[in-house]
Amino acid sequence: MRIKKLALFLAAVMTLVSLSVSVSAYDNMFSDVPEDAWEAPYVYDLVGRGILSGYGDGTFGPRVTVKRCEYAKMLVGISQTPLSNSLTTPYADVPSWEWYFPYVNSSTSFMTGFTEDGVLYFRPEWDATREDVTVALIKALNIDLSPYTDPTGYLSQKFSDVDSIAAHNRVYIAAAVDKGYITGDVNGTFRGQDPIIRAEIVAVLCRAFPADTNDSTNTAVNDTLTAFFLDVGQGDACFLELPGGKTMLIDAGTAQAEQTILSLLQSRGHSHIDYVIATHPHADHIGAMAQILQQVSASVVYMPDAQTNTKTFETLLQTILDKNLPVVKAAAGVTIDDIPGCSAVFLSPSETTPEDLNDQSAVLRLSYGQIDFLFAGDAEAGAEAVMCSTGLPLSADILKVGHHGSDTSLTPAFLAGVSPSCGIISCGADNSYGHPAQQTLDALSAAGAQIWRTDQNGTITVTTDGNTFACQAER
Ligand SMILES: [Zn+2]
Repeated sequence: MRIKKLALFLAAVMTLVSLSVSVSAYDNMFSDVPEDAWEAPYVYDLVGRGILSGYGDGTFGPRVTVKRCEYAKMLVGISQTPLSNSLTTPYADVPSWEWYFPYVNSSTSFMTGFTEDGVLYFRPEWDATREDVTVALIKALNIDLSPYTDPTGYLSQKFSDVDSIAAHNRVYIAAAVDKGYITGDVNGTFRGQDPIIRAEIVAVLCRAFPADTNDSTNTAVNDTLTAFFLDVGQGDACFLELPGGKTMLIDAGTAQAEQTILSLLQSRGHSHIDYVIATHPHADHIGAMAQILQQVSASVVYMPDAQTNTKTFETLLQTILDKNLPVVKAAAGVTIDDIPGCSAVFLSPSETTPEDLNDQSAVLRLSYGQIDFLFAGDAEAGAEAVMCSTGLPLSADILKVGHHGSDTSLTPAFLAGVSPSCGIISCGADNSYGHPAQQTLDALSAAGAQIWRTDQNGTITVTTDGNTFACQAER
């Protein structure tokens, strides 16, 4: 494994990822959460509020157990717990390069670890138990425990298995049961050591953190997603207005792209970017990112654990540090959970992805309703082969074609897996690389995909309501 210097650096700059609340109806969004399932209202409430998402393949996984690191992320998010900037963690098993580092490290006030031989472990990969979850919940809510003077007696009236609940945890369980956040089994047991499943966790979180019905953002939700594939010459930059009002910037072209990106932000009335994604540290993708971050605020930066020693990259890292921006490692399986109504999951890079910077590109699949986008960065054949083998769904209506349409990307297997109806190529007119390659254009056409190119069409705008989409070109 490579030296994780960047991750250590980034760990220093992690702060709060704040969640804004908004709500809408997303009925039948998940194939495995039918409308009449008991958990459906909870699932759609939290997804609508941008607290949690599905897996990006149209499923929510209601019967899937919840890992402790995943619960830490959920609870930190829903309780809006601020994160510390500490480089260190009290836990021996929470490496700074793991995606959950910022979440686990900021959950210390309500989640407790396990001490073995004087060493504290968090056990991030362990299933969260019902007892775990309940104790952390009550601590996060800062519930007054003074009314619960005899928790064992109280719980004994409700459950036959009180003995299995750790004595020091009973007061928290009593409070949670009394407040109706969690219930026992129909057979009168609490099952404290059982792993909690996602259907249960959404119910618990909804009850404990009900939607604020007085919040004005609850009523007016913009339900259109608009993606601007900007004409930034030989480079990549895509700005998205997401349903619910959040924004995302995927790459920021070369240094010359600064004005193009800022003009768009200004004309659309944005002075804040919620999610900034630096697919990989090449100058045609992060060239103007530092300048952009110096002029508009941002909530969080996602980037792969790939680094280079260029001035451009170092300036970006310094800007992230100066602006005290939280950074989350982009890697296969990492999800962005707080986009109302959307599922977003990184498909790449994985542990086995080739180490060159293009292949290390963060590849994001973003789904809104029936419409899927795939942003391939500069991923080439090696990364594509790994993506094809992971089992994560690749299919997308709109593909931001990898590596500017180069013949080193879009292998037949990957193209078949994505099966796009629209391929968008971001490249400069008469660029010296010969992008896009004729074989890429031919392959897209043969696959039945419409081709849009920033060098010929200018900025390309895709709008979708989650059911259908439309592409529009500047020229
Ligand atoms: Zn590139």
